[in-house]
Amino acid sequence: MLTVENLHKSYRVGKTTYEVLKGVSLQVERGEFVAVMGPSGSGKTTLLNCISCYIPADAGSIRLGDQELAKLDEEALAQVRNQKLGFVFQDFLLLDGLTVRQNILLPAIIGGKVCAKTEDRADQLCQVFGIAAIAGKYPAEISGGEKQRTAVARALMNHPLLILADEPTGNLDSKSSRAVIHSFEQAKQALNATIFMVTHDSFAASFCDRVVILRDGVVWRTLEKGGTARGAFQDRLLDAIREMGRE
Ligand code: ADP
Ligand code: MG
Repeated sequence: MLTVENLHKSYRVGKTTYEVLKGVSLQVERGEFVAVMGPSGSGKTTLLNCISCYIPADAGSIRLGDQELAKLDEEALAQVRNQKLGFVFQDFLLLDGLTVRQNILLPAIIGGKVCAKTEDRADQLCQVFGIAAIAGKYPAEISGGEKQRTAVARALMNHPLLILADEPTGNLDSKSSRAVIHSFEQAKQALNATIFMVTHDSFAASFCDRVVILRDGVVWRTLEKGGTARGAFQDRLLDAIREMGRE
């Protein structure tokens, strides 16, 4: 579904070049919920921004479905971003002047294809995420949890192949974090969504099928949840992070 191979990315600041991604390879299968963890500055956001087609990588390949993203021109990339990717931002970025339902419809509006089918999709998403009753309200009139569910619903509007989220629980208390993670689980179960989430929060990551840990610009280790209970998986993640700190 998503295949990242040997991805390299450096930033030039003045005369110095900082190598951030030094050959990252990973895969996400359809219907998987995958987290990327790693210390601050390890390149998580950079990796996500490359996959989002937001910044170009220097070398390596990113394949989404049957498309090689590096080979696409700007127009094709814009189309991939609108049609194939769904984004959940850290502060959710709902538009205050639009209702919940209009916010959810936004990707269809941007894609220029609002019709009976997309209207039905918006209603279905409101049902799945339990926000049908507040669909006509504006962001200022709804709770934090409802905003989060609206943001996840919006990311799913165009039936994306992949949902990308950068620290979606980063600014949230533990109850709201749970709500976001629960929305992702619903998206996975009810809509077979594929989710790729960057987080430094082992609690959030422990709900994932697989956790990829980045260090020094490469994948240091991948942990599979398998049949492990969530709590035990979180303990394994914390052990791995401690071990990484000792090396
Ligand atoms: P993470 O999300 O894991 O905290 P980032 O991908 O944001 O890490 O950043 C990785 C490294 O790259 C950091 O050292 C950061 O300072 C640097 N960096 C990120 N963006 C830029 C940029 N636009 N220009 C220069 N350096 C950057
Ligand atoms: Mg980051």
